[in-house]
Amino acid sequence: MPSPRCRVTVIGIGYLGLTHAVCMAELGHDVLAVDTDAAKVAMAAGGEAPFFEPGLEPMLRKNLDAGRLRFTTSYAEIAEFGDVHFLCVGTPQAADGSADLRYVDAVVGALAPGLTRRCLVVGKSTVPVGTARRIIARIGDLAPAAGEVDVAWNPEFLREGRAVQDSLSPDRIVFGVTSPWAAALLRDVYATPLANGVPALVMDLETAELVKVAANSFLATKISFINAMAETCEAAGADVTRLAEALAHDERIGGKFLAPGLGFGGGCLPKDIRAFRAAADGLGLASVAGLLAEVDAINTSRRARVTDLAREAVGGSLAGKLVAVLGVAFKPGSDDVRDSPSLDVCGRLCQEGAVVTVHDPVAIANARQVMPHLRYAETVTEAAHGADLLMHLTEWPDYRAIDPAALGRVVASRSVVDGRCALDADHWRSAGWSVRVLGRP
Ligand code: NAD
Repeated sequence: MPSPRCRVTVIGIGYLGLTHAVCMAELGHDVLAVDTDAAKVAMAAGGEAPFFEPGLEPMLRKNLDAGRLRFTTSYAEIAEFGDVHFLCVGTPQAADGSADLRYVDAVVGALAPGLTRRCLVVGKSTVPVGTARRIIARIGDLAPAAGEVDVAWNPEFLREGRAVQDSLSPDRIVFGVTSPWAAALLRDVYATPLANGVPALVMDLETAELVKVAANSFLATKISFINAMAETCEAAGADVTRLAEALAHDERIGGKFLAPGLGFGGGCLPKDIRAFRAAADGLGLASVAGLLAEVDAINTSRRARVTDLAREAVGGSLAGKLVAVLGVAFKPGSDDVRDSPSLDVCGRLCQEGAVVTVHDPVAIANARQVMPHLRYAETVTEAAHGADLLMHLTEWPDYRAIDPAALGRVVASRSVVDGRCALDADHWRSAGWSVRVLGRP
C-alpha cells in the first residue's frame, strides 16, 4: 500500500527543522518550510544547507528538484498550506537557566490567526513540561478554527552528525496526543519508518515532553558519571580508560556514552539539563534539581581540569605560550560550536595569556564568529607549527590518524594534552611526545 502523501509545514529551519523538512520530503510528503531568517530561507531554497550535516545537502537538492520541498518567510502561506505544522524553533537557555520560550510563543502568535480549518500543530522543539497545554490555550484564543486545531508533541532525538539517518530511521517515534485523530494523522506522516519496524510510542502530552528531557538528562548523567570516575582515577593513580572498558562489558551498563574526557556541550544537552533543573525547581523537586546540578557541575569542571593539564605541561604558566588546539566543534561530525567544550578551554587558555591557534575540519567559520581573536589554521601542521603544546579537544577521526613523528618535526615542544582520551598514547610516546590524558596516570 502506498504511503499517504501529507501537506506538511516545518517552522524554523535550523539543525532540527531543516533536517526534518528534507526528511519529510524524502518520505514523499509535500513540504513547505518557513523561517524568519530570510538569508537562511534563500540559501535552503537555492539548495545549500546553512550548516554542515553529512548527507543533508544532496537530499535537499534532490527534493527541491522533485518539487516536494519549498521554502518561504510567509506565515500566511504556511497556515493556508499545511495539514500538519511541525514546530522546530530554538528553545535556548534564558539567563536564569530555564528554557527561553520566546520563539515558540512567537510562532504560535504568527501561525494561529491563519488557522482557518482542521489541522494539527506538532511540537518537536525541546520544551519544559506543560508547554503543549499552554499552546493549546493560546491557539484557543487566537485561531479562527480553534475547535478544529489539535496539538501534539513529537520530540526529536536526532544527533548532529547523524541527523539524516536518525530522522529517517529513528530508534523510536514518540507521539504525545490528546485525540485518536492526531495519533492517526501522525501515523500517516510517519507511515514509512513505522512500516520499516520503528516503534511508535503513543502517550499523553506531558509524558512526551518529558521523554526528551529525561533521555538527555540520562545521557548527560552517564557522561558525567564516567568523568567523575576519571577524577577518582587521577586521585587514586588508576586508569579510567581501562575502567570504562571493564564497565562496558556489563550489558546492563553498556559502552555507549561512557567515554571519559572533556565532557558534553552543544546546543542541546547543557541547556536541556539546566532547563529541566529549573522546571524541577518550579515543581518543588529539590532532589531532581540537585542531581542535575551535580551532573552539570562535574561536566564543566572538566574544562578547568584540562586547562590545569595544559598549564602543567608547559611548566606552570601559559603566558606567551603557543598552543595548537585540534578540534573546536562541540563534537565530531558537526560544525556546531554552541557551548563547545573546546572553545571554552580556548577562552581559558587565552585568559592566561596563551596564544591559541585552532584547527577543525569544518567548524572554523562558526568558531571565528564566536572567538575572532583566536588564530585559525587550515591544516593540523600549520596549527602545530612552532607550538609549545598541542591539545586534542574534539575527537575527529582524522586526528587519530596523525603521524606523531612527522608532527613532532614542526612543533617547538613534543607535548600533547589529550582531552578526549582518544589518541594512542603509547604510539605518541614512542615518537618522543610527552602525553597527558584526563583520568590516566
Ligand atoms: P537552531 O537555532 O539551529 O534553529 C532554530 C531556527 O528557528 C532558526 O533558523 C531561527 O531563525 C528559526 N526561528 C526563530 N524564530 C522563528 C519564528 N518565529 N518563525 C520561524 N522560524 C524561527 O536550533 P536547533 O538546534 O534546530 O534546535 C531547535 C529545537 O530542537 C530546540 O528546542 C532544540 O533543543 C531541539 N533539538 C535540537 C536537536 C539538535 O541536534 N540540534 C536535536 C533534538 C532537538
